[in-house]
Amino acid sequence: MGADQAGLEINEKVINQLRGVVDPELGSDIVDLGMVKKIDFKDNGDLKITIALTTAGCPLKAQIQKDVRLRIKSISEISHVKIEWTELTDEERAKTMDRARFNLSQEDVVTQIPRTTKSIMIASGKGGVGKSSVTANIATGLAAKGLTVGVLDADIWGFSIPQMLGVEGRLAGNEETKKIVPLVKSVGSGTLKIISMGFLVNEDKSSLNWRGLILNRAVRHFLEDVEWGDMDYLVIDMPPGTGDVQMGLAKMLPRSDMIVVTTPSKTVQTVATRVASMAQSYYLRIAGVIENMSFFVNEEGKQYNIFGSGGGEKLAHDLGVPLLGSIPIDPFVSDGSDTGTPVILGEGHAADALKSIVDEIIAAVPKINPLDCTAHTSMETSVTISNS
Ligand code: ADP
Repeated sequence: MGADQAGLEINEKVINQLRGVVDPELGSDIVDLGMVKKIDFKDNGDLKITIALTTAGCPLKAQIQKDVRLRIKSISEISHVKIEWTELTDEERAKTMDRARFNLSQEDVVTQIPRTTKSIMIASGKGGVGKSSVTANIATGLAAKGLTVGVLDADIWGFSIPQMLGVEGRLAGNEETKKIVPLVKSVGSGTLKIISMGFLVNEDKSSLNWRGLILNRAVRHFLEDVEWGDMDYLVIDMPPGTGDVQMGLAKMLPRSDMIVVTTPSKTVQTVATRVASMAQSYYLRIAGVIENMSFFVNEEGKQYNIFGSGGGEKLAHDLGVPLLGSIPIDPFVSDGSDTGTPVILGEGHAADALKSIVDEIIAAVPKINPLDCTAHTSMETSVTISNS
């Protein structure tokens, strides 16, 4: 293969990776929005990319930069990346906005999730790795920081969020808006807004012997017909593995980030990789990996690696994403789930690990500040017009 041909193939790989970098505000990828101005690959492995932002001082630059670097890292031929930033001209900006509005109008599902809410899917390859426990704790930890956090229990067959968060009740509708109202729980100065199948059906889960497509429709209702209102984050407890519900959610929430929960065991890791590839094929960003049940520390402080070691680190390395933290096996985790008081609100090894993971998440998936860029205001105007 000639050098030119090789260069062209690298360019194509770069473009494919950049298609996964979504402008958090405009909701489309930066290639489609015409923000990638130049790709220059040299035989020595150097890559220079020129990206034009809607406004030069756009604070979302840091997020876009991080995503670009993360994506490009997976191309082995590239050893060094330099990103040059420019600003779209007025004419280009107008075209970019038109494109973003067009893309929005093509989205077949109009969810009730505000554009300023950052959604995070918590996924795992198989059940029993602690995905729901991690979801309940992360959501509670975010709320404890004074944030408003939605919790969507999309693990429809195995719903456990109501029990883990200690919330009981039945979903009811708002007569005026005809929308379902989430159940609310205060955590310090923050708030959790919770939706779960558990608030609709009786304890007996066998009544949920539904097929994938019907379940997918149920989850769709949870996004379309729930009055979510303002939220900083929406944390979604995904069903384990890859199926209709997971793919439906990936399609309905294309701007989501995903966090993969695994254990140190090698078999869990292999199935977790499949979930990650599903996310990547929908261009979802994988924000990181959390290893749960990593080790057990006895009363003398001796550590036992009961399920092996290194699984989370290896998965994170293979996916080219950070390991956000490792949570030890701690009876307080299951006690907390049983009593409806997530362990993160207490103290101990697992609580400390989870608190640090919440900080890592806030850094890796910063909440969207609606005042960040001028583009936002223009998009909001367009949404109002298209709704009228
Ligand atoms: P999943 O959602 O992946 O099916 P769960 O969150 O329901 O998993 O957890 C499975 C079981 O393991 C629950 O009983 C939970 O309390 C327990 N568990 C989860 N993580 C831990 C941990 N770090 N230490 C001790 N028990 C845990």
